[in-house]
Amino acid sequence: MNNTNNIKRAIFPGSFDPFTIGHYDIVKRGLGIFDEIVIGIGRNATKKETFPIREREEAIRKIFKDEPRISVQIYDCLTVDFAREVNAQFILRGVRCVQDFEYERNMAEANKSIGGIETILLYTRPEYAHISSTLVRDLYSYNKDVSAFVPNHLH
Ligand code: ADP
Repeated sequence: MNNTNNIKRAIFPGSFDPFTIGHYDIVKRGLGIFDEIVIGIGRNATKKETFPIREREEAIRKIFKDEPRISVQIYDCLTVDFAREVNAQFILRGVRCVQDFEYERNMAEANKSIGGIETILLYTRPEYAHISSTLVRDLYSYNKDVSAFVPNHLH
């Protein structure tokens, strides 16, 4: 990917284990701000995964298969290095609550000073504020129906 035409490109980094309707909403709204969004699934050796990373990648690709402005990639480097690799000038993240805010502020400051990358935060819609990958994983581990929390395309 090159960036010769002043394309505004953001990465949306996360674990997405699994990708929820909260994530989906942030990406869709991000398309109103950015020309292109690269969803980056971070490979994190210390976090135990529930859904294999290749399955997550496949599932997210399927969700956005008709949206040419969105692409999906797995990465295992620093987030700012991934942003640079795909020629993104921005990091897109979602904020649900005060705890998210504190965390995101630290990350945004770090990523700005390490990599010169700006972070753009979108507030979660109130109806999605309680939805997290952790919640979906917990329900899933007890064989509960998770279809209300993941995009339609995943079930
Ligand atoms: P990470 O492990 O990096 O926190 P996640 O996959 O949990 O990755 O989340 C990726 C991004 O999506 C984060 O910015 C997070 O705050 C945001 N996010 C998670 N759940 C929601 C939600 N329900 N609504 C909006 N944003 C969300």
